[in-house]
Amino acid sequence: MDKAKKKEKNKKEKENNNEPKEDEITFKIITLGDSGVGKTSIIERYIKGTFQSNNASTLGVNFSFKNLYINGTQKIILKLLDTSGQEKYKSLSKSYFKNADGVLFVFGLNDKDSFDNIKDWMIYFSEHCSIENIPKILVGNKCDLERDKGFDPDLIKEFVGEINIKYFETSAKDDKNINELFEEMGKTLYKKGLPLEKQKGKIIISKEVHKKKTNKCVKCFIDF
Ligand code: GDP
Repeated sequence: MDKAKKKEKNKKEKENNNEPKEDEITFKIITLGDSGVGKTSIIERYIKGTFQSNNASTLGVNFSFKNLYINGTQKIILKLLDTSGQEKYKSLSKSYFKNADGVLFVFGLNDKDSFDNIKDWMIYFSEHCSIENIPKILVGNKCDLERDKGFDPDLIKEFVGEINIKYFETSAKDDKNINELFEEMGKTLYKKGLPLEKQKGKIIISKEVHKKKTNKCVKCFIDF
């Protein structure tokens, strides 16, 4: 196959996979938390609008893409990285930390232990990610279920206040707050990552948002 045909084939494949084109703005969002809290289900609900009562465990790291329109017009792409909470895959998921633009720390409202472990996930993340001020959201999933009796009602509130993190209660099962969660993250990333000069056709340089492997600044063409 000649070069041009190969290029065209790759382009078509990318389009079919909903993968972003080079000039599109893509934010990588990583989900972290214990196994079984619903990380995969939250992503599946958001991407496909479906819920499976018996999701197979995530092995390693999976990713999927979704377009999001900010203020109804500006398209950004969310690349959602679904990591396994299993110990044996921890070293694999940490290789994705350094490229993450945003993080969702997920626990189950029916599982106090998974909440207690969030601090460890946060420490683990900060140990392996050198970029400061990455947008983070704490997610209490499975709000459709009865809460773990060990949860003091003020416990989450105190923790959220203490570390000053945004907090969402979601249900992947009942589709509660799932779109809102990703919209909030998308808006925060967009606000943080784009410079003020939002003019049509302007070349802008953004180090924070468009980190390539080299971690150098790359030029991005913003098409308003
Ligand atoms: P992960 O290991 O964190 O990715 O968790 P999964 O997404 O695989 O979910 C683990 C189990 O919890 C599965 O049986 C899901 O069907 C179930 N689950 C996930 N989210 C919810 C939810 O919001 N409500 C209820 N009731 N079950 C959920």
